[in-house]
Amino acid sequence: MADTKALNVAIVGGGPGCKAIMDIIFAKKLSQLRMSLIGVAATNPKAVGYRYAQEKGIFTTKDYRDLYGLKELNMIIELTGRDDVANQIARAKPDHVRLMDHVAARLFWDVFQIEERRIAERTQAEEALRQSEEKYSILVESSLTGIYIDQDGKIVFANERFAAIYKYKRDELIGTDPRQLVHPEDRAFTNDIRKKRLRGNGAPSVYEARGLTKDGETIWVARRNTRIEYKGRPAILGNVVDVTEQKCAEEQLRDSQERYYAVLEASPDPIVVYDMKGQGVYINPAFTRVFGWHSEELLGKKIDYVPDENWPETRMMIDKVLDGRGFLGIESRRYTKGGRLLDVDISAATYLNREGAPQGSIHILRDITDRKQAEEALKKAHDELEQRVEERTAKLAKITKQLKVELTERKRAEKALRLAHRGLAIEADELQAANEELSQYAYVVSHDLKAPLRAVRNYSDFLREDLEGTLDGDQKAYLDGLNRAVNQGEALIEDLLAFARVGRWIGPVERLDMSALLKELVTSLDLDKDVEVVIGKDWPTIEADPTLVKQIFQNLINNAIKFNDSDHKRVEIGWRPAADGQRELFVQDNGIGIDPRHHERIFRVFQRLHTSEEYQGTGVGLAIVKKASSKLHGSVRLESQAGEGSTFFVALPETQKEKER
Ligand code: ADP
Repeated sequence: MADTKALNVAIVGGGPGCKAIMDIIFAKKLSQLRMSLIGVAATNPKAVGYRYAQEKGIFTTKDYRDLYGLKELNMIIELTGRDDVANQIARAKPDHVRLMDHVAARLFWDVFQIEERRIAERTQAEEALRQSEEKYSILVESSLTGIYIDQDGKIVFANERFAAIYKYKRDELIGTDPRQLVHPEDRAFTNDIRKKRLRGNGAPSVYEARGLTKDGETIWVARRNTRIEYKGRPAILGNVVDVTEQKCAEEQLRDSQERYYAVLEASPDPIVVYDMKGQGVYINPAFTRVFGWHSEELLGKKIDYVPDENWPETRMMIDKVLDGRGFLGIESRRYTKGGRLLDVDISAATYLNREGAPQGSIHILRDITDRKQAEEALKKAHDELEQRVEERTAKLAKITKQLKVELTERKRAEKALRLAHRGLAIEADELQAANEELSQYAYVVSHDLKAPLRAVRNYSDFLREDLEGTLDGDQKAYLDGLNRAVNQGEALIEDLLAFARVGRWIGPVERLDMSALLKELVTSLDLDKDVEVVIGKDWPTIEADPTLVKQIFQNLINNAIKFNDSDHKRVEIGWRPAADGQRELFVQDNGIGIDPRHHERIFRVFQRLHTSEEYQGTGVGLAIVKKASSKLHGSVRLESQAGEGSTFFVALPETQKEKER
């Protein structure tokens, strides 16, 4: 085939498509096309096709209008993929130049591909028979896209797929108006597009419309119309794809999207949806309620509400989202529009587009400020409790320590006391022993003094008898004095012996009838007529040694009468209850009384307040009373004033046995 007969083409667009077409042309595999490339236009001089053309020495330009000036240019192939460029070329090109826009070029490219394979398979002879229309036909018939050509408002060509989409036989369609295949409601706008397409301006390259099948069923089709020359006259090449299923799927998708939207809107938790750039694309009402921002303030922007110190976990969340992963329950903090700091629990999920690529992320921010505060309060209460327990424990430890110290001190004191007691007991024993010894000594001395005193008395008696009648007054007085002194000495010795004897032999304890005992005692004392002794009634039982009791009362009654200058001497004997179950027996007189200064000393041996001339006596009586009381585990005291009488009290326990123990 000669070059002169070839179709001279120029390509607009320097991309890979351009290079591929150039390869086909240069390889001359499709020799029947008789194409010859004479120019390439591309805005980007670095584009692969553009550089390839330069390498091959083909005319290149940045402005496709330069191509119009090429001599013998027959066709411009537009490969930019831009309808506006195609439309512009269609308007501006010289009349004799044909335009193959990117859609048609693509179609050709497909054809070339198939052809290439077919050529390899077919024999040379078959190749010769091939007609370009046949090739189209094969391509068109094998296409999954419905293809038809509309010329003068009639279908002049339709492939099998096209007929199948509308459920017609191919023959039934040829010669009919293609508008009958459009749903009545979509006829107006599709007609408009068709007209625009024929005029070559302003029509969308691809659009969707509803179609009607032969049996009246509505279907959805995607259409692409291209203006072509068919048999030398303008026509429309239509591509139709049945998208009914896809539409249904989209409808369902829209439904589910609406459902999701409703869920997001109704969520009580704030939700924000970001695109992959981190810009807000949706916030729900709860977000506005909690954080204060409205959609219009945030959409298409980055939300600046992360406190500086909460960036680490936030950055980690963002990384996960960009990585296409979600995350759950991360605690962080966010500012509200009003500047309040909220504790939030954030969960996020990445959402994908239909192709499965991450498109953005949905973040749910649960406000857990209250919970956090409650946790904080709980922790504080817990800490306080622990502190209080600690303080109490410390206090307790201190008290315990103090108690221990006190206990030790007390033990020490008790020990000291025990020792003191023991010491006292020893001392008491020693004292007792000393007393006993003294008593013994007094007894022995008194006893031994009795004999010499008796001798003195005897010799003085002999002297008086021998000198009877010869004694003068003075001599007689001397002998009387001697006699008195001896009497006094004997009385002293007798009394001292009596004192020493008190309690030396304690008789058996008896239940005493005090009334009877006292009456008998008073009778035995043989008192003068001017003395009145009154003995009380209703005596309690007293268990004691009767000898000691008699010694006590004998001495007290004698003193009450002796130290009494009243004309009518009155002595009263009675009792009254006293502390510790004791009884106080008393002897009261109307005698001379005793000055309180002497109340103690009169109980000592030989202590007297008067001379023997004033009141006879040895000063042993009250000492005997005290000793006998003590032997009966009792005590003695008196109440008296000089000149006002005296009352002596002897306190005795109820029984002696108790005391013995
Ligand atoms: P005595 O009777 O031998 O003098 P006491 O020991 O009995 O010895 O008494 C001591 C002293 O107590 C007595 O000398 C007396 O001064 C005084 N006295 C004792 N009893 C009475 C009393 N009832 N009234 C006044 N003085 C008393």
